[in-house]
Amino acid sequence: MNLAQQNRRIAWRLWWAAALPALLVLLVLALGLVERHRRDVTAAWQQRAVASAHQLAASSAFALFADNREAMERLVEATRASDAQLLGVALYGPDQRLRGLSGLVRITPAMLTDHDLVTVGADDIVVVAPVRQHMVTGDDWFGPVGEAAVAAGAPLGHVVLRLDLSGLQRDRRAFWGWALALAVLALAVAAVLAYRIAASVTQPLAHISDVVLRIGQGDLTARAQPRRRGILEPLGEGVNAMADAVASHQAQLEQRVQDATQELRRQKDEAERLVRVDLLTGLATRRAFTEQAQAEVLRAHRYGEPLALIMFDLDHFKAINDSHGHAVGDMVLAGFGRVLAAELRQVDAIARLGGEEFVALMPRCDVAAARQAAERVRAVAEQQRLQHHGHSVVLTVSAGVALLDPRDAGWETLLARADAALYEAKRGGRNRVVVALPPAAPPPGPRV
Ligand code: GH3
Ligand code: MG
Ligand code: MG
Repeated sequence: MNLAQQNRRIAWRLWWAAALPALLVLLVLALGLVERHRRDVTAAWQQRAVASAHQLAASSAFALFADNREAMERLVEATRASDAQLLGVALYGPDQRLRGLSGLVRITPAMLTDHDLVTVGADDIVVVAPVRQHMVTGDDWFGPVGEAAVAAGAPLGHVVLRLDLSGLQRDRRAFWGWALALAVLALAVAAVLAYRIAASVTQPLAHISDVVLRIGQGDLTARAQPRRRGILEPLGEGVNAMADAVASHQAQLEQRVQDATQELRRQKDEAERLVRVDLLTGLATRRAFTEQAQAEVLRAHRYGEPLALIMFDLDHFKAINDSHGHAVGDMVLAGFGRVLAAELRQVDAIARLGGEEFVALMPRCDVAAARQAAERVRAVAEQQRLQHHGHSVVLTVSAGVALLDPRDAGWETLLARADAALYEAKRGGRNRVVVALPPAAPPPGPRV
């Protein structure tokens, strides 16, 4: 069940919770009212019918006593004519025979008793009332019927009145209609109110739930809008405060990660630089030189250009270290690096291979030019005088020069030849330049 369905369910429950009691109360009230009204009105009509019957009984007592049929007929007619609600009026004699009738009445002889009988039907009220002897006024107590009645103590006769109730029923139906309409109206109002109550809870709840969901999915800019927080204002503010805290924490975290990444990158760059640049002299390291030399050898082979390599080794450098200290040795190494950088071309690749050994790779340079450059470096180095504690440090350097041969597979063979020439220079007394011979030609193949 998703969020929208859940909210709809809550809304419906709230709706019913609010509307049902109101509906039930209204129905009970309406039923009570209708019932009471019906009873009251019916009772009033009964009283009215009984009063009319008594009135007719009093009026007809003498006629009955005298058995005056004509008078009785007139009384009956006059009574009915006096009240439009009367459907029928009848007079019965003491022998239970009809003496006068107007309209329609339906009774059985058993209903002619010595007391009032009221029968309430669906559409009419029938009142049967006995006519008593004492209702007769005057002193004239004779006559066959009157005498018999007086002797027996029985009623002089009965009056029967039938009153129309259909008007009342119409009123009842109208009343029911009104009650129902009122109930429906009340229900509609209750429904609208309940819906608004439900909406005032569910809509802010749905909005806040949506915001929490979006934050959970990583959207840290999601916030509960003041206009849509409704009665759940504190909850919305709490969620917003929580989102602010999470967002600020996230920003701090991102900043820290960014700083750490930058520091790592800086350290990596520095490490790479240290791998490629010799700290003491600022020249390329063996590793950086190797890459450059491989590329230069390939280029020279490809275009058939000359490529010379000079290898330098400081003479008796151990003795300098021993006599003046390692720090002075370092200064001498750095000084020689500067001499190389100053005396050779920018296109030449210069490197410190390790210890007090240096190398220079010279593109488009033949052996004569390379030798000349090596001599120049050697001479300049010899002229250098590093002053230390009143002593001047004298530096000499030996060099071996080799030229790339088309048969050289890589720069290592070129270096090996230069190293061999350097060895010769050392052997020859140091502070000199020796040029290596080209590699020996392969032995001739067998003659055919
Ligand atoms: P040769 O004339 O035969 O080359 O003799 P050498 O003394 O120069 O050669 P050796 O190989 O015997 O000594 C090289 C010395 O260089 C030994 C080592 O202590 C020193 N050395 C190597 N690297 C450094 C460095 O970075 N700084 C200093 N100060 N000395 C170094
Ligand atoms: Mg050496
Ligand atoms: Mg040396």
